[in-house]
Amino acid sequence: MPVEPPVVSPRDLASAYAALAGDAIRPIAGGTDLMVALTGELGPEPAGIVDLWGLDALRGISIDGDELVLGALTTYTEIRRSAVCREHLPALVEAAATIGAAQIQNRGTLGGNIANASPAGDTLPVLLAADAVFDLGSVRGERHVPATDFWTGYRQTALAPDELVLRVRFQLRSGREMRFRKVGTRRAQSISKVVMAVAWRTAAPGVWRDVRIGLGSVAATPIRAPRAEAVLEGSPVTPEVADRAAEALAEELSPIDDVRSTAGYRRVVAARVLHRIVREAGGW
Ligand SMILES: Cc1cc2nc3c(=O)[nH]c(=O)nc-3n(C[C@H](O)[C@H](O)[C@H](O)COP(=O)(O)OP(=O)(O)OC[C@H]3O[C@@H](n4cnc5c(N)ncnc54)[C@H](O)[C@@H]3O)c2cc1C
Repeated sequence: MPVEPPVVSPRDLASAYAALAGDAIRPIAGGTDLMVALTGELGPEPAGIVDLWGLDALRGISIDGDELVLGALTTYTEIRRSAVCREHLPALVEAAATIGAAQIQNRGTLGGNIANASPAGDTLPVLLAADAVFDLGSVRGERHVPATDFWTGYRQTALAPDELVLRVRFQLRSGREMRFRKVGTRRAQSISKVVMAVAWRTAAPGVWRDVRIGLGSVAATPIRAPRAEAVLEGSPVTPEVADRAAEALAEELSPIDDVRSTAGYRRVVAARVLHRIVREAGGW
């Protein structure tokens, strides 16, 4: 029988930071990813676990000046129920609604999705498209890392082993539009084959600016799509531009074949999803 690693439950951040010192100590939030990985079959078990669930400092959804701020322990159910999120970041509410089912949405957290660093994490394209910034904390203090710099390789992040994701910040930008699409095998309880968020601001009728395309399940990490973004940036949104953006996206992606999908399927579907988003926004 495997021996369960000892769990400590700190009541404040300083105690959590202290508890995270040492080799192979892992934080746990909702546990919906970590518990699955604790069987010992997927790598060495941690030497100890720090339970973050009691840390009020990591909770809450608020507006702080011109930013929307979500604590790392914010669950998908809280995101779905939040009037503030529905008003300012409805694409995140849509993404939260596609994750697992009610049990997972009640326990799974935004910070867990970020730190778990799965390329298929469904909120991550939204965080990329919204220019989210992550506040990270440790005994050394706080630092701020943009989502674009956070996922450094397959399941690798900018987090130090003793560092926590504390909160996620989104600058509120007037006129920003965002669309979210998840393609999976089913409508619920499905791991994404392609997941995408597209953000833009309409600068003049039919002209997009500040275009951001965030994608998941098409690379080793969640990614942006700079070539397709460049096609859409500043262009009048016409059928020809939508065609060129979709082509640019298909060319710049290098997905892999795996048990859920082939690389070819992912490339074609990502291009079509982008084309449809542009088409629907253009109203033609
Ligand atoms: C049945 C099922 C269905 C699922 N469906 C989906 C889905 O549709 N889409 C999707 O994206 N995911 C899905 N997941 C995965 C999972 O629910 C999410 O990734 C969730 O957001 C993880 O959050 P958590 O709080 O449970 O993380 P945990 O399991 O507690 O932790 C995950 C990882 O992040 C680390 N961690 C957690 N919080 C912090 C923090 N604040 N700072 C630093 N490190 C931290 C942990 O050490 C661990 O490595 C599913 C999981 C299950 C079991």
